[in-house]
Amino acid sequence: MFLLDGAMGTQLFARGAEPGQCNDWLNVKSPDIVMEIHCAYFDAGSDAVLTNTFGANRYALTRHGYADKASEINRAGAQVARQAAGDRRYVLGDIGPTGDFLEPLGTLRADQVREAFVEQVRGLREGGVDGFIIETMTALDELSLAIEAARSAGGGLPVLASMSFDKGGAGFRTMMGVDVPTAVSKMISLGADAVGFNCGTASLDEYVELSEAYVAAARPSKKKVQVFAEPNAGKPELVDGRAVYRVAPEEFAAAGRQILKAGIHILGGCCGTGPQHIRAVAEALRA
Ligand SMILES: [Zn+2]
Repeated sequence: MFLLDGAMGTQLFARGAEPGQCNDWLNVKSPDIVMEIHCAYFDAGSDAVLTNTFGANRYALTRHGYADKASEINRAGAQVARQAAGDRRYVLGDIGPTGDFLEPLGTLRADQVREAFVEQVRGLREGGVDGFIIETMTALDELSLAIEAARSAGGGLPVLASMSFDKGGAGFRTMMGVDVPTAVSKMISLGADAVGFNCGTASLDEYVELSEAYVAAARPSKKKVQVFAEPNAGKPELVDGRAVYRVAPEEFAAAGRQILKAGIHILGGCCGTGPQHIRAVAEALRA
């Protein structure tokens, strides 16, 4: 098993970051806080941490007025994670969605979005990442542009690609209606080294089911792709308009065991997971 980290946002808030502010800017403004979180995950047993750059493409940064700081934020995010990791552990440059739709559904043009992802990839690379992880994608066109950017500007470093699924009447689908076989074959055809899923609104049992679907979809490929999983700490409950995750570290580790049994060997956590969840997985599954 190769162990990733857990959530970043909640850890930042626990250390005084203000909800609604730009988390990614903290790489520049308060790298010590970001460093502390990376170190907490490495202490818990993570083999790799994800940079604090989920919202650091120029479109997502526009909302906070930091669009022109994209390169700086990504470089700084990679540097602080690199410092925490040293030479013996790994850093994955985190790439999230723009938060908007491409034409014709929305207003973003493909060439501009590709350029924004290339800009992010270059910044992350300058800061010393070991690879890239594209997360929480729901649309195939945006996913494709991000993978292409990481492949073309990433200097040959590994690319992990992930979409977010919910389970409805038609089985597992992303918000934009993409099913698992379509997501997996698209990722593989674009040259992703690992295919996975993260976030969403599934229960732990459903994440195990989703793992099985992913492994089945990846199996026919002649390319030896890895499959990875970053489940949330269970299904969120809405409390005063906020999503609350109640799954305890031991329960999370138990689901992790099922996920490994399904044939997945790269495991991390998304929303609601913290260093305790990662530690529980490391202790239960590394024995
Ligand atoms: Zn999440």
